[in-house]
Amino acid sequence: MKLILSAVTFALLSSSCSMQSTENDVTLNTKNNSERHVEPHLVNMAKNSVNKRIARTTSLPKNIIMVVGDGMGPAYTSAYRYYNDNPSTATIEQTVFDRHLTGSSSTYPAAISGVVTDSAASATALATGVKSYNGAIGVDADKNKVQTVLEWAKLQGKKTGVVVTSQINHATPASYLAHNESRKNYNQIADSYLDDGVQADLYFGGGWHYFIRDDRNLVNEFQQAGFHYLDNYQDLATIPKNKPVLGLFADVGLPAAIDDSDPQRLATLSKRAIHHLIDLQKHDQAKDNGFFMLIEASQIDWAGHSNDINNAMAEMDDLAKTLEYLEHFVKHHPDTLVVVTADHSTGGFTLGAKGKYAWQPAVLKSLTSSAHSIANTLYTQKITPALTEKLFKFSLTDDELTLLKANKKITADQKKSIVNPTKVGKHKHLAVPEFALQLAVKRIIDQRSNTGWTSGGHTAVDVPVFAFGKHSSHFNGLQDNTDIAKKLFKLLGK
Ligand code: MG
Ligand code: ZN
Repeated sequence: MKLILSAVTFALLSSSCSMQSTENDVTLNTKNNSERHVEPHLVNMAKNSVNKRIARTTSLPKNIIMVVGDGMGPAYTSAYRYYNDNPSTATIEQTVFDRHLTGSSSTYPAAISGVVTDSAASATALATGVKSYNGAIGVDADKNKVQTVLEWAKLQGKKTGVVVTSQINHATPASYLAHNESRKNYNQIADSYLDDGVQADLYFGGGWHYFIRDDRNLVNEFQQAGFHYLDNYQDLATIPKNKPVLGLFADVGLPAAIDDSDPQRLATLSKRAIHHLIDLQKHDQAKDNGFFMLIEASQIDWAGHSNDINNAMAEMDDLAKTLEYLEHFVKHHPDTLVVVTADHSTGGFTLGAKGKYAWQPAVLKSLTSSAHSIANTLYTQKITPALTEKLFKFSLTDDELTLLKANKKITADQKKSIVNPTKVGKHKHLAVPEFALQLAVKRIIDQRSNTGWTSGGHTAVDVPVFAFGKHSSHFNGLQDNTDIAKKLFKLLGK
């Protein structure tokens, strides 16, 4: 009977989803080909049965975790492999990304925006299955609202959660949670998280700047709506198990991974979030429908925009640790699907530059603070070989020292010309011009590692897709970013 049911389930899922069978899936996996043969009368019997829906739903993943590495084009995951390599072994170790690569995805937006997407259009495609213009948040090219996979998951009785390292109303999470004609309408998007109906049971990320305003205190309103609120990592351990939760940990985005008190804050927050969603599901005794989560390593993109290889690898490391935790979770909860991709590639990042056949990430591994914090220290202290060796963990050449000193002078002039210095650096991921000294520090690290960049923006290269857990093989091969949402809707029973 078990065999028949699994065969029927298989037939129904293939006809309703028009997807390939899966090899590493628990429910659909069959031991030999004869078991895959489905008698027509069995299919008809099942189709006519009231159990049809149950047969379908029991074969779907219970939990779905969508992970976006913002800006994480293919060079980032290759770079992380070499960055992560143990130099004392002869082989180059596989990374968690290597273990789960299933395919790739095109990222182009709606025709009006050409072929280079921004995070809003691409996240809208990933969240809704519809292509839109750059800047669009959960709306189509005509600015009509489009349902997101997260909204649909909530309607199916799943708990929902969003964990990001940007502000929670930034383009990627907003495209799963909101509908707005422009990503730039940050306050409107934040307001809509309450005004348009609360979509998630858990929000972790940054955003005091937008949620605690003079005209409106959304944190108070979330609390009035029954949410538990926390604003620091220490309080993660004491979240009441029965309440939805809003965790805002920074004014805008969280600190860069390498400078944060917890360099693996995405992994920490994701782990806590999953446990909390399970607690909520248990507390909600009516039905255990599982959960849908969006996890975003938001700041790979910010590192890419500022051509900062040091920060980029630290953000990748945080994401890798997050995925390693998810691997562990899926091992113990095989009814979970994890899909990982990027919305686009940032910075035109590549491994090797200027005709030299080399990429040398060892220099990056020894660095313990960001280029920006190194530059800040160099600005306030006298630039000496001893200080620079302490900061960079390698001794600088005379040329490099001269470069830093010259750019320190330029930076002093730049600072004098700024009317309100407190504003600078607050939104460092936005188009705030960087000080010359910060750029010089990054250029020294680029030269030492032979890192190449072609852009301060995005590029149109396809991005990798990784998947593991139940039905992960549906994400094999080349797909479009809209296909990812379409497949998720099917796997959510739509
Ligand atoms: Mg993003
Ligand atoms: Zn970007």
